[in-house]
Amino acid sequence: MRILVVEDEPRMAELLRRGLTEEGHAIVVARDGREGLSLAETASFDLLLLDVMLPGADGFTIVRRVRARQIQTPILMLTARDAIRDIIEGLNLGADDYLTKPFSFQELFARVRSAARRGPIAQPVSLRVADLSLNQGTREVRRGFRPVTLTRTEYAILELLMRNAGRVLSRDSLIESVWGHADIENNTLDAFMRLLRGKVEAPGEPKLLHTIRGVGFMLRAEES
Ligand code: CA
Repeated sequence: MRILVVEDEPRMAELLRRGLTEEGHAIVVARDGREGLSLAETASFDLLLLDVMLPGADGFTIVRRVRARQIQTPILMLTARDAIRDIIEGLNLGADDYLTKPFSFQELFARVRSAARRGPIAQPVSLRVADLSLNQGTREVRRGFRPVTLTRTEYAILELLMRNAGRVLSRDSLIESVWGHADIENNTLDAFMRLLRGKVEAPGEPKLLHTIRGVGFMLRAEES
């Protein structure tokens, strides 16, 4: 699973990263609420693991914003206090589960496994940019009436770009979101972009996928 861990306490963040990596998960760690929020909003994770008390934006704010954007990724909150009010607030805002610190790693792993089994609440969302549409329920992609067949990675890249249509996504954030780590060959992203462009923009169709030199990529309908 791809898990986003938002935890400001370095020792705890490192413990979580190491423990969950050993369990076979791909971990991205954000050290403050703002970074966590922007990753949670742009990236496709299988699980969000959120500390409540965070600088920048607290865990509740992240849950609220993520759910407001119809992102249904399971959320597990880590709360330092055994305060029932905190727990209720978190669940009320759309978190799926919580764990009170200190916790045992066995307990954490069990919760992570169960969140993964539950998966996101099935709520197919259709994304659309100009005549390009992507159905997150069926994973069907169409340009007008033309079906577009994508590999898993191409789909992940396109979904991310469509979710952030009109915004430039940096190369680094794309790589981090799609692969879960920055350790890919230099030209891999460009190769995928070429493939994706070839499939999404057939000859004669208006351009949607824009390269922003020195920065990254953006999906946007050409202004007419
Ligand atoms: Ca904290």
